[in-house]
Amino acid sequence: MHRTKQAWKVNVFLGLILLTLASFGGMLWKTNNPDDRLLLGLGDIEVAFIFVGIGSIASAWMWCTICCPKYHQSVGKWGMQHCSVSTWFTDLLALKKCPHCGNVDSI
Ligand SMILES: [Zn+2]
Repeated sequence: MHRTKQAWKVNVFLGLILLTLASFGGMLWKTNNPDDRLLLGLGDIEVAFIFVGIGSIASAWMWCTICCPKYHQSVGKWGMQHCSVSTWFTDLLALKKCPHCGNVDSI
């Protein structure tokens, strides 16, 4: 990812995942403390939608933004479709060449 200057896209994805985890924690907090005003008066449903929304944005970001610069094919999409659920992210980071064109300078 460093050769194609796309490492920042991975960092944005990680930031979105942190926000997703924080919103999941907020959802759990709100479920266990329904009368607490800590979450700015948001209800259970609103907090759940924020959690799902940020998680969806994170997935879409990874799916759409990391691409082979030569053929403009999505490498993030390839990782999500062809790798195990538990290892797709580390498999994606460990790629030595583009899965689409095989070029070592495209990843
Ligand atoms: Zn390629």
